[in-house]
Amino acid sequence: MIFRQLFDATSGTYTYLLASRIGGEALIIDPVLEKVDRYLTLIRELDLHLVKAVDTHLHADHITGIGALRDSTNCITVMGEQSQVDVVSMRLSDGDRMHIEGLELESIYTPGHTDDSYCFRMADRVFTGDTLLIRGTGRTDFQNGCPRAQYESIFNRLLRLPDDTMVFPAHDYKGDTVSTIGEERRCNPRLQVKSVDEYIVLMNGLNLSNPKMMDVAVPANMRQGLAQAEIARLGWALTAEEAMAAIGSSDTVLVDLREQTERRKHGGIAGAVQAPYPDLAANIQEGGLLHELAAATGRRLLFYCAFGERSAMAVRAARTAGLTTACHIHGGIDAWKKAGGALIH
Ligand code: FE
Repeated sequence: MIFRQLFDATSGTYTYLLASRIGGEALIIDPVLEKVDRYLTLIRELDLHLVKAVDTHLHADHITGIGALRDSTNCITVMGEQSQVDVVSMRLSDGDRMHIEGLELESIYTPGHTDDSYCFRMADRVFTGDTLLIRGTGRTDFQNGCPRAQYESIFNRLLRLPDDTMVFPAHDYKGDTVSTIGEERRCNPRLQVKSVDEYIVLMNGLNLSNPKMMDVAVPANMRQGLAQAEIARLGWALTAEEAMAAIGSSDTVLVDLREQTERRKHGGIAGAVQAPYPDLAANIQEGGLLHELAAATGRRLLFYCAFGERSAMAVRAARTAGLTTACHIHGGIDAWKKAGGALIH
């Protein structure tokens, strides 16, 4: 397995790059905008292919690199369903499994530091975001933070993981890089409380000043959506209503780019061909399934995904690959659902 812990000294942020070889699919957690070039260089040097960029929560102390990474690698962006971010490619909820080739991360919803905080557990380790830090916990005094919720998240979720689970936080300001659940239970001064009320008093008494970057970082981090308007302006998008009219007509092949787990959870549109986004490049090149399907039948490809991000990127890629009638459903199945479109499960 490839596991890299990268550090941004300005914000004290840890970013994690994960991969398990073979085809080299990689996932990055909590990337920092100013470090994106460095990540891209490392990804190239390790011969990896970035497929997912994930934020544990909406950060207040640095600007996220997920949007910039998507724009330079066509990877998908991932955050929790509670996040105030405008658009990401995929949203997770508690218990969802996030996959890349050879690796699985379990999402644990852990509100408290913010109301959109998630931890991700992978085999022997857990990425704790700002929920649990080494000998500390994330502040709970802004961004809908809540010490009571954080107590529940830490004591009833994280501390129930096996003691030897390694803890990799999103920040450290003292130079520590890793801890374990057992070590934090015993040695973390914030966790030596006897009750939730004692924890609330402790957290409410911290009186911290706001992060320097907060006024810049929070609004910037809320705007991560890919410019779908540009795709629409080019005439490459159908609204959900237009898609309803087009589906069933013999000149359109509907293509669902989501992963199997998303289809199972949220349902899909009847008659769609399933072709997950990670396989897109292979599917749209000459000889690929979608390329041949479109070429053999003369039908146009109509892509859709969860929120329209993957499908917008797919339209560009398909048109570059010669499939010049490809288009997508603006806003994805989210827009389809809001427009009253039927779903099959
Ligand atoms: Fe934070």
